[in-house]
Amino acid sequence: MTTFDSRESLRKHVASGHVDLAPAPEVFDRTPPALTGPDPWPRLEGMLLGLMIGDSLGNTSESQLPHRRFDAHGEIRNYLPHHRAGGREVGLPSDDTQLAMWTLESMLEQGGVDSDALAKKFCSSRIFGIGSAVREFVGNYKDEGLPWHEAGARSAGNGALMRIAPVLLPHVRNPTPALWSDAAIAATLTHNDRASTGSCVAFIAVLWDLLGMDEPPAPEWWLERFIEVLKPLEGGDTHYRSRIPGDTYDGPLWAFLEQRLPDALARDLDARTAGNSWYSGAYLLETVPTVLYILMRHGHDAEEAIVRAVNDARDNDTVAAIVGAAVGALHGTDAIPIRWREGLLGRTREQDDGHAFELMRQAQARWVAR
Ligand SMILES: [Mg+2]
Repeated sequence: MTTFDSRESLRKHVASGHVDLAPAPEVFDRTPPALTGPDPWPRLEGMLLGLMIGDSLGNTSESQLPHRRFDAHGEIRNYLPHHRAGGREVGLPSDDTQLAMWTLESMLEQGGVDSDALAKKFCSSRIFGIGSAVREFVGNYKDEGLPWHEAGARSAGNGALMRIAPVLLPHVRNPTPALWSDAAIAATLTHNDRASTGSCVAFIAVLWDLLGMDEPPAPEWWLERFIEVLKPLEGGDTHYRSRIPGDTYDGPLWAFLEQRLPDALARDLDARTAGNSWYSGAYLLETVPTVLYILMRHGHDAEEAIVRAVNDARDNDTVAAIVGAAVGALHGTDAIPIRWREGLLGRTREQDDGHAFELMRQAQARWVAR
């Protein structure tokens, strides 16, 4: 069992300036509410399946402009032929699934989040579609031998947010404030950036609340809850700039969300039009509004939310992985179309078919079953 204490470690490295984050005791000292109600496993399983399925539906047409993707494929509602599966139409992982499920694997081995064990795990196998920040982290940690708290890239890409969901699993039956520091440590390991780490903790707070909900929240809830956690962690002095020519935005991520999302909703923009208005790439100033806007408009319908993410976002595998985790946590496994569940191979590496499902069985037995 790990002796790693994420609260103490985070306090130390925030104070020393190695981890770029506001101390935000109003977030980190709060005990999450107990998850009451029936067996939470179908929701947790839905969260993990939604993440993997969103990635798998998207990663065969990643990074295309939505209208070009539509011209090539029409509306994607099923797995496309995959070159790593001999052209079969099945669900295969890219980095989103791999790093999420390796986080779960490392936590099962260690008993929870352990920064060095997780760092070694991320450096241990081939990553499909690896992003530049994770590549930089691997170089810093494995090749340069830097300590984990100096190895993260100063990147506001979405590569931490896409894989953060599993960190809540060890906390399901015994919630403590370590939920938030586990999320922050796991995030900052590869992406040492305020918008990234703040978004990861905020997304964990959103997921946690979704697990306890009996019905879908109002559209405004997604934005309000996310900002409530992101804002104190990010603070008011960050400068994220829009990549849209002529858009002069330069400020915190939370303020961008506050400025753009209610306006898009009031104008009843569809997901593609809204996504195009701020771009929907791998930069968090684009990914986060895209994810939240799809959830605001389609969060009540798990299938449609994932379909919109896969079709209407530029970095569609990651947007769909994040949206999929959220709607899976809200609606549970049964709301995810059976054709998607059956077509998912459960790989986390090149040839380990079914390993993701084995990790899920272990997580259920260890942290959820009574
Ligand atoms: Mg990917």
